[in-house]
Amino acid sequence: MSEEQESPEQRSWHHLEPEDVLKTLETPEEGLAEDEVERRREVHGSNRLPSPRTRGPLRRFLAQFHNLLIYVLMGAALVTALLGHWVDTGVILAVVLLNSIIGFVQEGKAEKALDAIRDMLSPHASVRRAGHRSTVPAEELVPGDLVLIEPGDKVPADLRLIKVKGLQVQEAVLTGESVPVDKGVDPVESEAELGDRLSMAFSGTLVTAGQATGVVVETGARTQIGRISGMLSEVQTLTTPLIKAMNTFARWLTLAIVMLAAMVFSFGLLVRDYSAVEMFMAAVALAVAAIPEGLPAILTVTLAIGVQLMASRNAIIRRLPAVETLGSVSIICSDKTGTLTRNEMTVRSLALAGGFYEVTGVGYDPHGAFERDGAEVDPDDDAALGEVIRAMVLCNDSSLYKRDDQWVVEGDPMEGALLTAGMKAGLNMEQLNKHWPRTDVVPFESEHRFMATLNHDHDGNGMIYVKGAPEQILEMCSRVSGEESLDKDHWLAKVDELANRGERILAVARRKSDNGQREIKFDELGSEFEFLGLFGLIDPPREEAITSVAECQQAGIRVKMITGDHAGTAQAIARQLGLAHADEVLTGRDIDSMDDEALREAVPRVDVFARAAPEHKLRLVRALQWHGYVVAMTGDGVNDAPALKQADVGVAMGRNGTETAKEASEMVLADDNFASIAHAVREGRRVYDNLKKAITFLLPINGGESGSIIAAIMLGMALPITPLQVLWVNMVSSVGLAMALAFEPAEKDVMSRPPRKPGEPILSLFLVWRILFVSVLFLAGIFGMYLWSIQAGYSIDAARTHAVNTLVIMEVFYLLSVRSLKVRSLTLKGLIGTRAVAIAILVVVTLQMIFTYAPFMQFFFDSTAVGLYAWGIMLGVGVVLFIILELEKAVRNRIAQSRS
Ligand code: ADP
Ligand code: MG
Repeated sequence: MSEEQESPEQRSWHHLEPEDVLKTLETPEEGLAEDEVERRREVHGSNRLPSPRTRGPLRRFLAQFHNLLIYVLMGAALVTALLGHWVDTGVILAVVLLNSIIGFVQEGKAEKALDAIRDMLSPHASVRRAGHRSTVPAEELVPGDLVLIEPGDKVPADLRLIKVKGLQVQEAVLTGESVPVDKGVDPVESEAELGDRLSMAFSGTLVTAGQATGVVVETGARTQIGRISGMLSEVQTLTTPLIKAMNTFARWLTLAIVMLAAMVFSFGLLVRDYSAVEMFMAAVALAVAAIPEGLPAILTVTLAIGVQLMASRNAIIRRLPAVETLGSVSIICSDKTGTLTRNEMTVRSLALAGGFYEVTGVGYDPHGAFERDGAEVDPDDDAALGEVIRAMVLCNDSSLYKRDDQWVVEGDPMEGALLTAGMKAGLNMEQLNKHWPRTDVVPFESEHRFMATLNHDHDGNGMIYVKGAPEQILEMCSRVSGEESLDKDHWLAKVDELANRGERILAVARRKSDNGQREIKFDELGSEFEFLGLFGLIDPPREEAITSVAECQQAGIRVKMITGDHAGTAQAIARQLGLAHADEVLTGRDIDSMDDEALREAVPRVDVFARAAPEHKLRLVRALQWHGYVVAMTGDGVNDAPALKQADVGVAMGRNGTETAKEASEMVLADDNFASIAHAVREGRRVYDNLKKAITFLLPINGGESGSIIAAIMLGMALPITPLQVLWVNMVSSVGLAMALAFEPAEKDVMSRPPRKPGEPILSLFLVWRILFVSVLFLAGIFGMYLWSIQAGYSIDAARTHAVNTLVIMEVFYLLSVRSLKVRSLTLKGLIGTRAVAIAILVVVTLQMIFTYAPFMQFFFDSTAVGLYAWGIMLGVGVVLFIILELEKAVRNRIAQSRS
């Protein structure tokens, strides 16, 4: 690379001839050697966009102060300062600062969690290096690398195309134009606009059709997209519909409370003869008491923890609201191959015109043999068998090799299985490929369900091989090998026979190509093929998928299988998986013959859809949604994108999925495993429960506090808790305890109750009742304790310290109770709780001791030491609260039981 210093603007790669580009970049035909790649990476750095501009720490810290409550508090600090109450000013400011620090730290943690998830989604690229094709992280590309791109790929770097077959690329990220453009290899004018540089494929754009090889010309920040980076930083904030609703609620609540405080202020001043200073402090106390300061932070943390847990179990959430939606999913539509099954294929049987063969051996290990009627046959002595095996090895895009004593497949597992069978037959792949080099290919696509290759021997004989779904291949054939005709019905019956054993079936056929033909055109394949035979492959269901299907069905979630595979195979696998309604199968053709209404009618009773193409998925999702179901749908291909977008939760395959599918999805499965969807649903339900618990925990505390303050003013008494003490409780004790709820494990019944109905209000009647009921109990506890202390002759400061400690003790007991809203908490497990609960209680109790006994705290908060007798009474109040709450649960459960 000679002209290192030249800027990318000046380099008109699109204007050069492909050969010149290769020469400039010093790229040999077989791709760069590994050590050359290393060298270039040293020079050019990795192919990564500079991370999106995020807010700096200072900006993020300052943003913590931009909050209605903080404004209220700072106003209060200002007024207390003007009144000369310096201690109060100091405490308020300290609490504001503390709160901002906590918010800052938490937000940082949450953002880190999201960053980690973003990293898990980084794309890969298929490169040719030192003569071998392999898949590497896109980050590792260097200028001069040869890259292969296929439909669904996100172009991994700026490429100058050198070989193109029907390539179309959607360049909306760069040009805003969403119609895909046809690309080619011919140079274009050097002044051409980005959108007209047809000989280039730009980083970040999406391949929608065709195939191509290109050479990397620019990487990282030097790519076109790198230069306009900024727009790539898809910034996610940690919110979901529920959290947004709660934030709005909190804002309105704050406004209402400030107004209420103003009213109370005037009432106290005019009716009750309090001094203005006293009343001002009371109004501030009320505002501080009633606003659930900790709520937004707690909800965000709960969500972040949920997302992190999901990621650790292979479900990567791309759009956060999906966490909530997952909890209400009522239908999961899943792919079969690789998701419900293991996608570890083995060729089991061969049906040829001349007879039926079985293949022995397991997995990709090429140890095994071909048998006919129980006797081993040598493929070298059986011409028909030999030709079929040759066809399946030549019409194949995958490779099989041994790594660390393990046979691994690069490419499609099914094709890998064919290679294994080929090796069992004693074929030498390399020789075969040398002898019959390939001159063209029509790649497999789930739309047309076959692939074709054109191979030539060195005497100029050409042969087109096709392999694919039997129905499709039979359509293209006019005779069977060795005969003059073809009995389609006979072969279709054979297909059914194999399919009913759960085998996945492929057919192969061939045709001599016309003289000199070097290319195959999809439309000109014709129907003059010679049918060679059928293969049956086994692909057993995943063990964990069987368990997960059962779990989902238990949880009121229907699992539906949508596959491109044969109806018989699909049904056999569905039975093995235990799908609820496997007796009826709808095929893509059936779906085509139905109008939307008929489809809607059919869709609830069928769980197996076979020979389905991507466009059927879209219709199915719509039909299901019409019934009000919340649908999760899996997909991997480019054409699955519309269905993934339409689904309530689009689920893309992380391993085999295309970038297009991932971008259309809410969630990506890192392991392509159905069980991970089930886990995510479970997790979604747990997160939702915990958000609900946090709300139910925090609101009554504010209710009780503000109730006591209003009661005191109405009765013309001194406040039972000072504003500073309320601040302490709300921002320290309540937040500390509520945080533990984010770690609550799932309730026992998470996966045995029906899905939450979409649109169900978070504050159900039950919760509203719960919040009011507990608010009253808190009011009684705080106020009662205060009155008792005054009556028993304690000083006001002592009575207030009692009230605060009672409040915190009640919080601890309420936390134990709220952990399980419906089930009894009075069990050993319920009382001990999780480690998070234990830690939270320990911390809060310790802080409360400091609050009560430390001289500096006594100075700031006017607290006083508490005697043993008073502690006993306060603890008693907590226990009484707990008993009342347990009784209430028991009564409610009794009523619920007698109703059902
Ligand atoms: P699934 O929904 O089970 O993943 P696919 O859409 O991948 O099914 O495949 C549908 C059918 O297409 C298969 O049953 C098989 O007959 C055929 N097929 C799949 N992969 C290939 C391939 N690489 N080459 C030729 N035919 C294939
Ligand atoms: Mg598939």
